Amino acid sequence: MNSARDPRIAIVGAGLGGLTCARVLQQHGRSVTVFEREASADARPQGGTLDMHPDTGQAALRAAGLLDRFHALARPEGDEWRVLDFATAAPLAHQGPSADGPSADGPSADGGRPEIDRGQLRALLLDSLTEGTVRWDRAVGGVTPLADGTFRLLFDDGTAEDFDLVVGADGAWSRVRPALSHAAPRYTGVTFVETGFDHCDTRHPDLARLVGNGSMLAKGAGMSLVAQRNSNDHIRAYVALRTPEDWHVAAGIDLGDRRAVRTHLLRMFDGWDESLRYLLSNSDSGFVNRSLFVLPAPHTWEHVPGVTLLGDAAHLMPPVGLGANLAMLDGSDLAHALVAETGVGDAVRAYESVMLPRSIEAATGSAQGLDHLVPATAP
Ligand SMILES: Cc1cc2nc3c(=O)[nH]c(=O)nc-3n(C[C@H](O)[C@H](O)[C@H](O)COP(=O)(O)OP(=O)(O)OC[C@H]3O[C@@H](n4cnc5c(N)ncnc54)[C@H](O)[C@@H]3O)c2cc1C
Repeated sequence: MNSARDPRIAIVGAGLGGLTCARVLQQHGRSVTVFEREASADARPQGGTLDMHPDTGQAALRAAGLLDRFHALARPEGDEWRVLDFATAAPLAHQGPSADGPSADGPSADGGRPEIDRGQLRALLLDSLTEGTVRWDRAVGGVTPLADGTFRLLFDDGTAEDFDLVVGADGAWSRVRPALSHAAPRYTGVTFVETGFDHCDTRHPDLARLVGNGSMLAKGAGMSLVAQRNSNDHIRAYVALRTPEDWHVAAGIDLGDRRAVRTHLLRMFDGWDESLRYLLSNSDSGFVNRSLFVLPAPHTWEHVPGVTLLGDAAHLMPPVGLGANLAMLDGSDLAHALVAETGVGDAVRAYESVMLPRSIEAATGSAQGLDHLVPATAP
């Protein structure tokens, strides 16, 4: 075991939470290694836009010394929400700034939640780390305790390394979590089917106007359409369905068959305004099926010095705008606890005493948020 001042720290997962933790640790002169199963930073597209909340995501970025660089990249005008009537596309509600100036509702009450593409945010964090911090192509298969209180990381390639602290920042299907808890994610009953539009101002101008600078939502019974503007003139759309997870199997649809998915969805959204059905009929990319899973809430565990969890690995919840923000705050809080406390065990205990109650509260709110986003009955 290394000294209490210089513990060997492994973070499993180079997502937003793990990278924030690594960055804050390095800012305080601490050593850390991040193990990531993907082969490189651009091994896969990183997904849509995220709004950074002042008290969570932005607070973590401030702790990481990256808030100014975040603001240089972010889109404050993206902090806009429109709710449209599904049958007419008439506006029902509006929140945040618009091209025509502030709305009647005024800007967000908490001072603004600028949007940033997830890929840009991850690159910002990656670039801030000392070279070689992230070890790519290092998939972790499990964690096992050793007799001296340290932990052994077991890699899928058959190798192993020992650490004083293992941080599971490896997302929904964490391989570190079983060292602390038997909890497993369960299907929420909601699936997002994702698609996208390129060069929207020139190729899809009516859609661009409908969506505006931020996000748009239209709701029916058990089905919603969400569209959000990303950077680079791109609009990402989610078809949100309350449905069994195997809906496409039951419908006999090959998800890779764009035309078949399109035809099926258009049939489901019969009666919706044509400007909204455009989201189904005219996308430039195919359809990606994203079944939404959550961990049981409350999800807690008996404190074990030497291993802990952050972000989705600890508290996977419905994607209603909190998960990335909380993962980053977790990362920053854990790093600060490790700097402030003399022993790893005390630091983990201090961190979990704040993170666990916070995540229980957020999980309850997010479950309600999902019901609001995709109501079971007609709104
Ligand atoms: C459709 C959708 C929209 C969302 N929108 C928002 C939003 O607007 N705002 C918001 O705050 N949140 C949003 N979220 C939630 C957010 O994406 C997650 O909460 C957030 O990414 C969690 O970050 P994380 O660092 O904990 O995990 P992740 O981002 O999942 O990162 C985990 C990392 O660990 C790696 N990994 C996994 N297993 C292993 C292994 N065995 N060995 C090594 N590495 C491994 C993965 O490759 C990945 O890089 C959304 C989620 C979805 C699905």
